[in-house]
Amino acid sequence: MQEDKPTKKVAVVGGGLAGALMAVYMAKRGFKVDVYEARKDPRSEATIRGRSVNLAFSVRGIESLKAVGADDSVRELGIPMNARMIHSHNGRTTPIPYGKKGQFLLSVERQKLNKDLLSVAETYPGVDLHFEHKLIASDLERGHLSFRRNGNDDQRLEVDADLVIGSDGAYSTIRRELLRRPRFDFSQEYIPHGYKELCLAPTKDGEFAMAVNYLHIWPRQTFMMIALPNQDKSFTCTLFLPFEEFDKMKTKEAVLDFFQAEFPDFLALMGEENLVEEYFRNPVAPMISVKCHPYHVRDKVVIIGDAAHAMVPFYGQGTNCAFEDCLVFDGLLEKHSNDFGAVLAEYSRTRNKDVEAMCDLAMYNYIEMRALVTSPVFLMKKKLFNFLHWIMPNTFIPLYTMVSFSQIPYHTVIERSHWQDKVVWRAAVATAVVTGIGAIITALRITKKDLKLF
Ligand code: FAD
Repeated sequence: MQEDKPTKKVAVVGGGLAGALMAVYMAKRGFKVDVYEARKDPRSEATIRGRSVNLAFSVRGIESLKAVGADDSVRELGIPMNARMIHSHNGRTTPIPYGKKGQFLLSVERQKLNKDLLSVAETYPGVDLHFEHKLIASDLERGHLSFRRNGNDDQRLEVDADLVIGSDGAYSTIRRELLRRPRFDFSQEYIPHGYKELCLAPTKDGEFAMAVNYLHIWPRQTFMMIALPNQDKSFTCTLFLPFEEFDKMKTKEAVLDFFQAEFPDFLALMGEENLVEEYFRNPVAPMISVKCHPYHVRDKVVIIGDAAHAMVPFYGQGTNCAFEDCLVFDGLLEKHSNDFGAVLAEYSRTRNKDVEAMCDLAMYNYIEMRALVTSPVFLMKKKLFNFLHWIMPNTFIPLYTMVSFSQIPYHTVIERSHWQDKVVWRAAVATAVVTGIGAIITALRITKKDLKLF
């Protein structure tokens, strides 16, 4: 009689968004999965403050959830945002659609999504969730992990796994360990801006205070504010401002003067008292972009999500990209019949150029969102690209559409976007030259005719 192969043990470090979804993917493949999360079980706690409250969710994220049947919560609870709503200084609002009719982003509550994914993971018999287990040391070559339990140094847990998946976020402990290895490339960049969240409550009648199906943006060239709708009819507004500007706003008067000068329409909706209370209650947080390579150690360890590629949040792709990591990884498991050595090597090699492309695009949007969306040239280019996309849907696809509404690999998105820009630029120059020559010929003909007359 043939003996059953022992089930391989997978340890997922970090039960945030990427870790929870990866646990579902791995459990679906029949592995024994243990998720170790430093924090308490979010399902037993009220909202945890300090992280952004809601996320803009798009095709890559949705498709990655759908592949394992975990898309219910975003589909049911996500609020569609069909367009950006640009707020000018004078309070005028202008919608700029994201793509074609029917294309929208979803505003999703981060905590709710995380809780739902953990619950989905727990429905698989092979999954165990261990909260208040903080990774403090590891031997990556052996797949050995040491955890501190319940915040108590005396309570340790030692674990050996066949595969360790590091999904422990932008300040990853596993990545820190990878840094000690030879030939591990790493770079990080903090941008000069920080962010502060402010909650815009529903109106007295219990309605949304602004038009609901939009991602509201107040672009102000060197800084900006955005707002996404929540299920409870509030908006989570995020002010992105250089740290030194935040530092200047120490008093109630300074805050009110700033909002009166820059966001008077928002101040009117928020009310002075509420704004000041929210402003001083919520912290200012930094934003980091991280690139590194390779993502794996032999057939033992791999990092995914923010642990591998934290990005600035201006394209709303951090979670979408982290979820796509799970989908791509699963595809390689399928391709290599769960051979971890082959999968990890190919994952590192092929995924790197895509996620680094996305980190670069996010940096680009850091400028586009706060400055370019108000530029007439930018808006004209957007209209032209939308038109070209309409007449040649497979040849011309606007950059934003490729990132948010397609699953075209991110590095191909950048290559195609450069090619499209070049073609349009050349066509514009050729049109200008032909028009110019035409104008000269016409002028010469008229002059000749005029000379004959006189
Ligand atoms: P995390 O969500 O950070 O999860 C990591 C988990 O690991 C945490 O639960 C943490 O407690 C745990 N952990 C850490 N260290 C240890 C340890 N030593 N031991 C055990 N557990 C540990 N993305 C979008 O797609 N759309 C958006 O609109 C969007 N908006 C954003 C707005 C802001 C202001 C910011 C900052 C980010 C935004 N993002 C957005 C990005 C998104 O938040 C991240 O990309 C996403 O959270 C990454 O998920 P993750 O699971 O890799 O990391």
